[in-house]
Amino acid sequence: MRRALVAGNWKMHGTRSSVSELIKGLQQLALPTDVEVAVFPPYLYIEQVLKGLEGKSIAVGAQNCALEPEQGALTGEIAASQLADAGCRLVLVGHSERRQIIGEGDDVVSRKFAAAQSCGLIPVLCIGESREEREAGRTLEVVGRQLGSVIENLGVEVFSRAVVAYEPVWAIGTGLTATPEQAQQVHAAIRAQLAAEDAEVAQGVRLLYGGSVKAANAAELFGMPDIDGGLIGGASLNADEFGAICCAAGS
Ligand code: PEP
Repeated sequence: MRRALVAGNWKMHGTRSSVSELIKGLQQLALPTDVEVAVFPPYLYIEQVLKGLEGKSIAVGAQNCALEPEQGALTGEIAASQLADAGCRLVLVGHSERRQIIGEGDDVVSRKFAAAQSCGLIPVLCIGESREEREAGRTLEVVGRQLGSVIENLGVEVFSRAVVAYEPVWAIGTGLTATPEQAQQVHAAIRAQLAAEDAEVAQGVRLLYGGSVKAANAAELFGMPDIDGGLIGGASLNADEFGAICCAAGS
């Protein structure tokens, strides 16, 4: 039985004071005990969030890490080992905003995935197709290539210590959400691709859906057999809304 995970990606949002308000709101939530919850603040606020959430069972992760796992001469980057040292437990890799705006390709994503794992962090591998790719009927090919690249570079076993987030790019921050059936179809394909290499790994890995998830649509999405929770952007900046999404993932 896979334990649901709801993860809040705060992206490049927040100030010390708004983060402090959000922490207060999160502290007050009554979270379901059968759901794992995590938040991913901007680097600058990770320490503030870790301190503010002490005693609350919400894990803290980072939104990115450097290619190289260890500290060194790489101006402006943060190493996975430094994130682990700070108290992070997870890290997003391959978010579509980094793939599209910053130009991270599949090989870079694999290296970051490996760097994260080598430091004991759980990578959350984000994959998903653009609107044009969906309209061209290429969704499964694109998602299959993004996942396949990590399998090819690092081996399927790495997914026994990782999470995959399917996030159709056309649904991120747009208010458009994949229907539960559309999302389930892709999640089933992801699990089948992993199962073709290792059935046990495929059964155990958590597959999150991301893309305009809100309290109003979360339960339907999380009710699908291969959707094990969500990666939440905009709605994670409101503690009550995020709490309601976490509750929707509980049994
Ligand atoms: C995201 O950035 O990962 C995301 C899913 O954003 P949103 O929920 O705002 O669509």
